[in-house]
Formats: sequence, structure tokens, C-alpha cells
Amino acid sequence: MPDIVVVGGGLTGLMTALTLSHSPYRIAHIQRQQANVDGETIRTTTISAAGRRMLETLGVWQHLTSAPTPIEAVKVADGEPSTGIKARRGKAFDLEWQDRDEPMAFVVPNATLLTALERQMRDAHVERLADRTVAGFAIFNKQAHLTLINDRGVTDEVICDLVVGCDGRNSMLRKSVGVRQRTLLHSQTAVVALVAAERPHKNAAFQRFLASGPIALMPLADNLMSLVWTLPKHEASQYQTCDVGKFNQTITMAIGDEVGFLTLQSDRLIWPIKPTFIANPTADNLILAGDAAHVIHPLAGQGYNLALGDAAVLLDILCATSARGLQAGHFSVLADYRQKRQLDVGAMSLATLGLNALFTTMPPGFARIAGLGMSLLNRSPAKSIFSTIARGGKLARASLLTGKLPQ
Ligand SMILES: Cc1cc2nc3c(=O)[nH]c(=O)nc-3n(C[C@H](O)[C@H](O)[C@H](O)COP(=O)(O)OP(=O)(O)OC[C@H]3O[C@@H](n4cnc5c(N)ncnc54)[C@H](O)[C@@H]3O)c2cc1C
Repeated sequence: MPDIVVVGGGLTGLMTALTLSHSPYRIAHIQRQQANVDGETIRTTTISAAGRRMLETLGVWQHLTSAPTPIEAVKVADGEPSTGIKARRGKAFDLEWQDRDEPMAFVVPNATLLTALERQMRDAHVERLADRTVAGFAIFNKQAHLTLINDRGVTDEVICDLVVGCDGRNSMLRKSVGVRQRTLLHSQTAVVALVAAERPHKNAAFQRFLASGPIALMPLADNLMSLVWTLPKHEASQYQTCDVGKFNQTITMAIGDEVGFLTLQSDRLIWPIKPTFIANPTADNLILAGDAAHVIHPLAGQGYNLALGDAAVLLDILCATSARGLQAGHFSVLADYRQKRQLDVGAMSLATLGLNALFTTMPPGFARIAGLGMSLLNRSPAKSIFSTIARGGKLARASLLTGKLPQ
């Protein structure tokens, strides 16, 4: 019988099962189906420097089949791109920073990351319960009972001390225990695609806050770039299906001339943006992690970095709990997790929400003030706060985020 069962075959579930396999407890992992690598060839994930250290320590980074692209500069601007002298002098972006010591983050295609996680899971001490969906969660005699169902409709049950729910933004586990959540109304949708830049991107990431929503380009190999373009929801479907020539022209004009003309290289995906806040991601015998515990606006590329923090913090807590001779589902584990994730998750949720609201919904004339704020910020020590967040591992303190397994 496992002590801990991790539910979910996405980026969070696989990574969390691998992480917790380094705890003294017996781990099982439940997956609905083999990770859907084909469905993830367009999306990419930006992983902070601390996240990279963690994935390296877990042996995942070494299995990435294509080299992650380091982000060596970040350029942020608000408002429509300028076409005047400022643009010609290469100052089209108000806020710029470069990191000379080590890249602050890396861009990895989701399919590559999922494959590397699956590969490393083969060698991990994890019992795998594949092709099963969790259909029920109940507690008897202080133990969690999960009802599982396979694709032939056959049910069985697994009993454990602690369930770690990594079952995504619509988490069945979260709903089944009535964890309180607040989901913002769906007003924006992200259009996601791969595009080729006409000129070298020099490993820079670009973010422009437009009144209609932020548009971001993250660097990939061979001048490819990953586009995440947030639009009012009624406009997004139009840009998903419009003529490719019109799409290329619109995104090039939206981001500005920094990397020249942009050309679509993939299908266009759309993602409804519905940030979800959960004050307490725990219930008896249950801990939520990843998108099951927090859904943030993708503008900062930090959702999965929070999931890495969730798993790393939980591993430290479980190692300390085992050293005290306690069970994995002990109430102190839940209390510690809740308390140690509050700051990191709360700060990132507020920062992404605040930035989006400030720049997207501002009335005409306010853009100028925001632009001034950006250029002041560029010269102030506050800028280092942004790069600190981008690097990760400051608000969340955990052994794996420093590249070490807990003692
Ligand atoms: C456009 C966009 C861009 C993003 N860019 C970045 C970025 O650059 N950097 C970053 O850090 N984050 C980014 N994010 C966020 C990141 O993609 C998510 O945080 C992350 O993918 C969430 O993974 P997850 O495993 O928690 O959830 P999911 O991927 O939703 O996985 C949930 C899993 O649970 C399984 N499941 C669900 N219900 C059950 C059940 N009842 N029984 C068994 N299994 C079940 C599902 O099959 C699935 O495998 C971005 C998000 C978006 C939308």
C-alpha cells in the first residue's frame, strides 16, 4: 500500500511524483493516459533558473532531447510600438534587463519536457497506476480512499495517507472536498503559436502590454519564437482562423520591429484565461499542487514555476515529517504546506493580475503615465525585484530549488 498517491499525468503530476520519490514514503502515481506529447508540440514553458536547478537535480534536464533556449535579455514595453526616433535608436522597449552571470530562465517545448519527465519516471521508485481516472475521494478511518475507473469501466480502489492532487485547473479532487476557490470571469483568451522571426532574436524575450492585452514572444532555437497573445475573448477566435498573411502582419505590428517580420509556423491554439485563487490548497488527507491549486495569468510565464515550488516545498516538509516518525497525512504536513506556499503563490497571483489589469484596462492618457513608470523602473533598484522573481526560488525556499536534495 502506498503512503502517498499523486494524481495527474500532466507536467505537474509527473514532476511531483518524481520529486516525492526522493522522500522516505512509498509513492504511487495515477495517470489517465500516457502523457499527450503530440498535443503539446506548440506550447512552451519558461522555466526559471531555480526551476532548472531542480529539474537537473531530479535528472530530468539531462533527458531533454533539444537544448533549452536560455533567456539572456528581457524587454518590456507598454502601449503601441513607437515608429519614431525611439524605435530607430532601438529603444522601442521601455524596460530592459540583461543577466551577465547566468540566464534568468530557459524556454522548453512542453512536448520535450513531458518526454523527459516520462523517461526519468521509468527509473524512479514510483508505483504506476496507468490508464485510470479518479472517480471518487473519501476518507474512512483517517485514510484517503480513491475510487479509480479504467477505460473498460472497471473500478478499483487505492488507500493511502495522503493524496497529492495535480489534476489541473478543473480539479475533480478540489471540487469533491469543496475547497473554496474564486475564479475570475472569462474575459480574455490567449492565442498561442510558433512564429519565425525575420532577424535574430538574440535569446531575448519580449513582452508588450497593449490596451487589448499583453503580447509576448519567447525565444526558441533557429529564430523560432513562442507567441502568447492575450486578447479580449471575442477577438481571439477571429485571429485563430483569419488568413495567415493578416495574422502575420497583425502580430508584427503589435509587437514592434525588434525582430523584424513574424511568420506563423504552426497551428494556432486558443486558451481561455480564467485565473483561479485558492486560499487553502489543502483538506484532510489532500494537498493540491500545480493548476489544481492556482491558475495565474500566463503573462509572466510563471504557472509551472509555482508548481515546481509546490513540489520542492512539499518534499522538504515530508522529509522533516518522516524524521519525526509521523505519517505523510499528518495535519502538520497540511498546515506547513499551506503556510509555506502562501507568500509565493499569493505574490505571483497578485503581480500577474495587477499587471494585466493596470495595462489592459487603462483609460486613454494613462498609458503615458504607465510608460513613465516603466522607464523609472528601468533605472531603479526595483528592477532587480522583477529579475529576482523571474529567476525563481526566492519567495519559495526549498532544497531542490538550490539544486540539493533534502538531507
Ligand atoms: C498559454 C499558456 C502559456 C503558459 N506559459 C507558461 C510558462 O511559460 N511558464 C510557466 O511556468 N507556466 C506557463 N503556463 C502555465 C502552465 O502551462 C501550467 O501551469 C501547467 O501546464 C499546469 O500543469 P498541470 O499538470 O498542473 O495541469 P494539466 O496540464 O491540466 O494536467 C492535469 C492532468 O490531470 C489529469 N486529470 C484530470 N482529472 C483527472 C482525474 N479525475 N483522474 C486522473 N487524472 C486526471 C489530466 O488528464 C492531466 O494529465 C502557461 C499556461 C498557458 C495557458
